[in-house]
This record gives sequence, C-alpha cells and structure tokens, in this order.
Amino acid sequence: MRVLVTGGAGFIGSHLCGRLLEIGCDHVLCVDNFLTGSPENVAHLTGHPRFQLVSADVVHGIAVESTVDAVLHFASPASPADYLRHPLATLRVGAEGTRHALDLAVAQGARFVLASTSETYGDPKVHPQTESYWGNVNPVGPRSCYDEAKRYAEALTMAYRRSRGADAGIVRIFNTFGPRMRPGDGRVIPTLIRQALEGAPMTVTGDGSQTRSLCYVDDLVDGVLRMLGASIGGPVNLGNPHEVTMLELAHWIRRLTGSRSEIVLVPLPADDPKRRRPDIALARVELGWQPQTPVEDGLLRTIEWFTNRTNGPSMLAEVPAPASRASELAVQ
Ligand code: NAD
Repeated sequence: MRVLVTGGAGFIGSHLCGRLLEIGCDHVLCVDNFLTGSPENVAHLTGHPRFQLVSADVVHGIAVESTVDAVLHFASPASPADYLRHPLATLRVGAEGTRHALDLAVAQGARFVLASTSETYGDPKVHPQTESYWGNVNPVGPRSCYDEAKRYAEALTMAYRRSRGADAGIVRIFNTFGPRMRPGDGRVIPTLIRQALEGAPMTVTGDGSQTRSLCYVDDLVDGVLRMLGASIGGPVNLGNPHEVTMLELAHWIRRLTGSRSEIVLVPLPADDPKRRRPDIALARVELGWQPQTPVEDGLLRTIEWFTNRTNGPSMLAEVPAPASRASELAVQ
C-alpha cells in the first residue's frame, strides 16, 4: 500500500508514518509545511527507502508523482495555542486543505481518512459524547477557527462520500498524548510535564475540576489504521474513556516525575469544555478497537521522552513501582 499522510511531520502524523513503515507499506509520503510540526519529528525515518518527506502547504494543492492507495489527512494546527496564533491558516487547511486531499483521493480511488476532533462537540451537553451528538460549539468564539474548520471538513468529507463516491471516513480524535509533543505547544500534558521537570509552578486552569480523557498515541495510531482498513464513513470516536480532572492530572504528573513543583490555578480560557469523555462503543463494534495502554504507562513513556530530550537527569528513577502508584491514584 502507498500512503500519503498530510501533516506527517507533526506529533500524531510522525507516529503514523513510522507505524505505516513498520507494517510494510510500500511507500509513505509525508507532506507538511512545518507550521506546527518539524522535520526533526521524522528525522529517524529520513533515509528509509520507502519514506519520502515533501515540504508543501496542502492549502495550495497536493501534487503526487505516483499513485497512492490511501490519504490520511492530518494537517492542521491542533493545540489551542497554535490555532489561536494561526486562525486563518487553521480555517484554510480545514477547508481548502481538506478539499485538495479529498480531490486527490477521489482521483486515485484511494481510501481517505479525516483526522477530526472531539472539539466538534464543543462544550458538550451530553456525557460521555456519542457520535450521534451534534455538539455545542460557539461559532464566533476564539476556538471557532478550529472547531468550525473541523466541522466543515467533516461536512465536506461526507458530501464527497455521498456525491462523488469517495471511500472516505472520519475519526473524531480525543486528547492524545505521547513523545514528540512540543514542550511549549500549550497542551496540558506537555505543559505540566515541562513545568514539573523544570521545578516551575504547574499551572492548572480554572478550579481544575474540568476533565479530559487521555489516549496514548500508539493506541490512537492503531485506531486510525483500523479506520484506514475499513470502508465505513463514521464518524467514529477514537479516545481513551479514562477521564481525569485537570487537578488530578497535575498531581499525577507531579508524583510520576518526583517533582516538588507547586500547583497553581490560572484563569480558564474562553469556551474551555468542562467535560470530555468519548463513548467508544462504535469503535469497538466497527473497528474492533479499544485503547490498550494504561494512561499511567503512557505518561511514564512521555515523561521519559521529555526527560531525555532536555538532557536533564532522569527523575523516573525516583518513581515508585506501578502497583503502589496505581493504588494511590483515584483518578476516575
Ligand atoms: P501537530 O500540530 O503536531 O501536527 C499537525 C501537522 O500539520 C504539523 O506538522 C503541521 O506543520 C502540519 N500542517 C499544518 N497546516 C498545514 C498545511 N497547510 N499544509 C501542510 N501541513 C500542515 O498536531 P497533532 O496533535 O499531531 O494533530 C494532528 C491532527 O490530529 C490534526 O488534524 C488535529 O486536528 C487532529 N487531532 C489531534 C488531537 C490530539 O490530541 N493531538 C486531538 C484531536 C484531533
């Protein structure tokens, strides 16, 4: 199989490219403009005979020299800090970028998978979130450049599926974490880990009671590949139903890093969702998928990566054994 991954030099995209090579794809074409990603994320893949990195902005079209069997459309700023900094680029990649990716998929008869998001549910009034819930999105708030771009991308994908016969599907990704997140990308896990490792105050927004459900990146990639191998349109939620409050998460990360950082409360951003948990019944039935990695294992792997990356002393040595930690944590 020959696969094109837009946004392949980003956090999730780079893991996808690596896994596609591991499972034996004939060719993995990674297209990225490095707006929020970096060639460094795929540096371990460059030089691989079946991997190709192309620097291009998919908003201006996607040119390929040979055939592709699948298009995984992951290009888009994803962290709130990134899309608030690049609101127009976010809207354009959700609209024009998605259109170009769909046109390519239709022209080549390729399977198409859109990386959509739990943000399409906005600040949800249904909990946990099922795919049949239409969401509660502020269409003019600061986050709307991302939420509405993804909602438009979903509508476009379904229109291509219905009117152009596109073999297209949508995954709605819930908070995913792991190695290669940028320490300063503003998302909660890299922020808390960085602060904990630096001994800086760990910032929790609001009163810390808002929740997220955290999926380790390897599991997410597995779900995306199952969607790639399916023919359904979805949308299908992909996420780990293990829900934690942000205050619990901060304490958890502080414990795992052995940090003595204080935890401080800072103002909640506008339209921040209060609760987030995927209902993954559909993914279980249609894709035979559910997360396999305990959140704590994922956190430890991520902390280790951040520790090595900053060349700091490994604080993991001081972390107690998993069994004792698990019993101490009341995170659900
Ligand atoms: P990321 O910012 O690390 O990766 C996005 C990549 O897209 C970057 O490499 C960036 O340079 C590239 N890109 C952006 N605009 C582009 C353009 N016009 N042309 C070419 N490349 C472009 O973010 P991520 O966390 O890896 O997210 C990847 C995808 O998954 C995004 O579509 C995001 O919306 C979706 N998603 C992620 C999460 C999550 O928790 N990480 C949750 C929901 C949805």
